[in-house]
Amino acid sequence: MNTTPIGSHLAFPRLERDDDPAGQLLAQAPMRQVSWVSFVALTAVVGLGPLSACEPDTETRFTPHACLNRLTTDPDFVDLSTIPWVAIDLKYASPDNFMGENLYGDFRTALLHRIAAGQLEVSAMALQALKPGWKLLVFDGLRPRTVQRQFWNRVKGTPQQEYVADPDNGSIHNFGFAVDVSLMDEVGREVDMGTSFDDFSPLSEPRREDEFLKAGKLTPAQVENRRILRRVMSKAGFIQYPIEWWHFDALPADIVRKNYPIVE
Ligand SMILES: [Zn+2]
Repeated sequence: MNTTPIGSHLAFPRLERDDDPAGQLLAQAPMRQVSWVSFVALTAVVGLGPLSACEPDTETRFTPHACLNRLTTDPDFVDLSTIPWVAIDLKYASPDNFMGENLYGDFRTALLHRIAAGQLEVSAMALQALKPGWKLLVFDGLRPRTVQRQFWNRVKGTPQQEYVADPDNGSIHNFGFAVDVSLMDEVGREVDMGTSFDDFSPLSEPRREDEFLKAGKLTPAQVENRRILRRVMSKAGFIQYPIEWWHFDALPADIVRKNYPIVE
């Protein structure tokens, strides 16, 4: 487990895209902004070498559960429960997910690569500036590729296939650079986003929110909640996946695929 504060000493990139038409929500939250080029140079300076993938040894049965538990002691990964203003509800560690089964055993926390975890810490601080007492509510972070293959086998050839990454290419979750996240208010209630997590329907698609708002299928409050989430995540450089309001990549996919290994 890595408990070193990260967000305080790394600078994080910020996307210039702004999907909040009002553009006002976080004007008061100062954040250092750097380009992707300088960010990649920075990661070289701080010494990002090849990471230890989760490989089986001769004594340990290779399961997602064993893999995740092993990586809790890897300095390249951070237990998100150590970050202030972050709560965790690991959906794939219970039957409360689209698969209807527990895929993570008794593993209960969520991990991200330390770069992505540092960005999440910045997002959580930005949320405090906007909504004091609110927390980021994490549903999933690092996801071993063996679990991705289980997802794929379930959805392949169905309408849900669009929402699940092909494991041969790897989801950005498989690198520890994607997070599924919502918001929790100051009294611990999950905020209404208009659909549940892993609701694989058009209503979950941020790119169609304006259309659903006009049609009365999403309320102004639900859209506003999604915008708050996007604003605080984008402040730390996270990139919103256009078809799932809960999914954010910490870095562009091509940079992740080029520089970091998949966790099997
Ligand atoms: Zn996701």
